[in-house]
Amino acid sequence: MTTPTTFAALGLREELVAALAALGYEEPTPIQAEAIGPLLEGRDLLGQAATGTGKTAAFALPLLQRMEPRGRRNAPVALVLAPTRELAMQVSEATHRYGRQLGARVLPVYGGQPIGRQLRELERGVDVVVGTPGRVVDHINRGTLDLSTLRTVVLDEADEMLDMGFADDIEAILEATPAERQTVLFSATMPSRVDKIARRHLRDPVRILIAREAAPAGEAPKVRQSAYVVARAHKPVALGRVLDVESPEAAIVFCRTREEVDSLTETLNGRGYRAEALHGGLSQEQRDKVMGRLRGRTADLLVATDVAARGLDVDHLTHVVNYNVPSAPEAYVHRIGRVGRAGREGVAITLAEPREHRMLKQIERSTGQRINVEKVPTVADLRSRRLELTRAALHEVLIADDLEGYAAVLDSLTDEYDVVQVALAAVKLAHEATTGPAGEDEADIPTVAARPESSGPSPSRGPRPARKQLADSTRLFIGLGRAAGVRPQDLVGAITGESSLSGRDIGAIEIADRFALVEVPSGSADEVVQALRKTKIKGRKATVRLDAGYAPR
Ligand code: AMP
Repeated sequence: MTTPTTFAALGLREELVAALAALGYEEPTPIQAEAIGPLLEGRDLLGQAATGTGKTAAFALPLLQRMEPRGRRNAPVALVLAPTRELAMQVSEATHRYGRQLGARVLPVYGGQPIGRQLRELERGVDVVVGTPGRVVDHINRGTLDLSTLRTVVLDEADEMLDMGFADDIEAILEATPAERQTVLFSATMPSRVDKIARRHLRDPVRILIAREAAPAGEAPKVRQSAYVVARAHKPVALGRVLDVESPEAAIVFCRTREEVDSLTETLNGRGYRAEALHGGLSQEQRDKVMGRLRGRTADLLVATDVAARGLDVDHLTHVVNYNVPSAPEAYVHRIGRVGRAGREGVAITLAEPREHRMLKQIERSTGQRINVEKVPTVADLRSRRLELTRAALHEVLIADDLEGYAAVLDSLTDEYDVVQVALAAVKLAHEATTGPAGEDEADIPTVAARPESSGPSPSRGPRPARKQLADSTRLFIGLGRAAGVRPQDLVGAITGESSLSGRDIGAIEIADRFALVEVPSGSADEVVQALRKTKIKGRKATVRLDAGYAPR
């Protein structure tokens, strides 16, 4: 990993360092650590970095620092070009936040917004313009955007701008800027067209490549790795569902900033988890307390920033959750290295926003390991999982066999109701007591298209075709399904390999996302359950038992 450093050590001025602290940024991301120094010196820069790496701050902080004291002039000192209105707004907002204490005036200009407002702001004077190429060219042609005082031009997501047909606009804009300007180009990929622009317009640039080299073989631990693609607004609910289905024994949830740590901890606690926040803003004493609760198992989720979690070692950790795609593959490897130790099974879960696909792919390339893009559990998945938990809880009570004290209640009710009805009412009560009232979660999260090359579960739900009817069969529940890559042949293989049954003895097989049902001859059911409990399916231990009776959807 890049040596940890601080924003102040990179040479940023106090006001910017303070703004970053207020935003809860604890340390520079790798791209920031590499880019900020040279940019402050005025060097040109060619950076290969995708969304999620922290590239916006990497270019915005230096250009803010290089801004001359306010009030000297009206024309902008920096121009950032971005492919879409959405990105232009995002970059503009971020730059505004970073530069607030410096009094930076930042203006987004993009098509679709009434030009009048932009004209008024430009006339009043701005320091940084963030725009889409088309609209910037409009302003140049109208004579409403003076580029003669520019010190820095940034091309953000250059590959996308070229893909969108902005090549001529970019050329025209660069022609209209001073020759001695500083030029910064960021691109997630470096096709030859981008390289050509870089060669034409950048002078002796510093080159930065995040995800440059593959991790040495064997470095990344063997961990089940999955990702869920969800829009930002749905992340808290999505995470809650994924955790419900995964039921981690203990997990670390990594966040980017202190604010995110605090708000997510609150959300998760509201959801019934015992979550603790850990970030650089805590005293050593508070930190020790948090760790004590985690080790003593009075907390099961630790929500933390990278900095705070550094050097932390928790033995019983089963899951690592990246609430955002980490800013570099090295950070990903480092994080997931906290589970899957000493031959135990570990799980790594990453929530990615649609724009962050590229970063996921880079991580895959760099670790040489697959990250399966899966669907966020649906409301139906969740219900069946919760019912399963209630069933298991009731089962435990039945095994414990200390129900005498309740016999009178049952007696009085059975005068009026059937025993089955009473039992169902009791199940309902138990279920609601553990799962709580239905809330916001009951709305389905809109599916976001996963990248085409992903290996997400097939869109067709529902059971796989039946094999054959057995005369006297018993259904077995196996707690692994499509999401774990389980196919009928895997189940047949495991059963025939571990028990005395042959393939012909096995009946219908149904595979749902998270579990599978298999029919076996009743006389062999116990033998198969015992055998499967001792083995692994798709490399994983699964819950195996006689099926309680509800079928997969
Ligand atoms: P970007 O790659 O520029 O789109 O940034 C991705 C996200 O990371 C944004 O939400 C930023 O606010 C956040 N971010 C950028 N730098 C840092 C940092 N050093 N620490 C924490 N969060 C950061």
